[in-house]
Amino acid sequence: MFQVKSFSATSATSPLSPMTIERRDPKASDVVIEIDYCGICHSDIHTARSEWGPTNYPCTPGHEMVGRVVRVGSKVKRFKVGDFAGVGCLVDSCGKCSNCKSNEEQFCSTPVFTYNSVELDGVTPTHGGYSSHITVKEKFALKIKKGQDLKRVAPLLCAGITTYSPLKRYKVKKGSKVGVVGLGGLGHMAVKIAKAMGAEVTVFSTSANKEKDAKKLGAKNFVHTVNPDNFLPYALKLDLIIDTVSAQHDFSPYMSTLKMDGTHVLVGAAPEPNQIAAMALIAGRKKLTGSLIGGIKETQEMLDFCAKKKVLSDIELISVSEINSAYERTIKSDVKYRFVVDNKTL
Ligand code: NAP
Ligand code: ZN
Ligand code: ZN
Repeated sequence: MFQVKSFSATSATSPLSPMTIERRDPKASDVVIEIDYCGICHSDIHTARSEWGPTNYPCTPGHEMVGRVVRVGSKVKRFKVGDFAGVGCLVDSCGKCSNCKSNEEQFCSTPVFTYNSVELDGVTPTHGGYSSHITVKEKFALKIKKGQDLKRVAPLLCAGITTYSPLKRYKVKKGSKVGVVGLGGLGHMAVKIAKAMGAEVTVFSTSANKEKDAKKLGAKNFVHTVNPDNFLPYALKLDLIIDTVSAQHDFSPYMSTLKMDGTHVLVGAAPEPNQIAAMALIAGRKKLTGSLIGGIKETQEMLDFCAKKKVLSDIELISVSEINSAYERTIKSDVKYRFVVDNKTL
């Protein structure tokens, strides 16, 4: 074991603060990564504040980390010391169940998430990327291509894969009409990735002041959702909606913009139940579904896709001491478009 610095939550109501956590020495198939940057996902906030149910404290959030490999176990094949590597939302899984076997480790019957989870030994708590180092099985470490701006790559490890996965699953291609609901961390990646896949993108936002940015990010259309009349020109126009909203909202108006058989994918995970009028689904045989991050193989595919298409996150780089205020600003939808922590400031 070795001790590393972290910035962690000790209760649902207290601000995050500096702590020391333990990381394991690398086993044969592990790598140790010195973390350079870690994005702040809204899931970090939901978890730090026990919004999805009781969190185990202390909790060190952060599942969008990139850095350099500094130690490797004796059986590690894909990484050597000095390589760039990333870690997303998963650090282990059983490897034996049907979902693991089909490269969907996020749906393993015993997934090990990067934080607020327990290792497969059943006792060791996991801690995330608001820390200086992480020890992880090489299988769950992602290759990051050299020459990219690492701090802008970090958010791909969650916001990137969470939006790439449903865009790919629902076969977005040149000419597809995609709606993106909520222009935050996930939303802005959904716009960029859908655009890179050739889609025509419509952003639905509660923030009128984001229209210029939405278009700069690649959207063709912008709908300010506060006025229901603004939905009317988009009736029956879209093939797919990626809904990234982090708070309770009514899905029905968005459904009205889907074509027959269109699909509304929830990735935003509001803690409270949402609303949907039955008729919004019945008319047009529309589908409402969800999507959880993506498997490790697909995450690597997404990173390679983004490297090739030069898709990066738009970020605000902050020091560790600014994490608590960044949480408040994220909740107010005041972020352009992902906060990324410079881990050197730990
Ligand atoms: P974020 O940066 O805070 O973005 C969420 C956006 O939702 C806001 O920028 C805002 O966009 C919109 N919004 C906020 N409150 C709203 C409200 N009351 N009504 C309507 N729109 C509202 O958050 P994020 O990091 O992108 O995460 C978004 C959600 O996805 C969170 O719930 C997170 O936990 C979840 N998530 C899920 C997965 C998964 O695997 N499914 C992975 C990562 C994150 P506008 O200003 O444009 O309206
Ligand atoms: Zn996340
Ligand atoms: Zn499994």
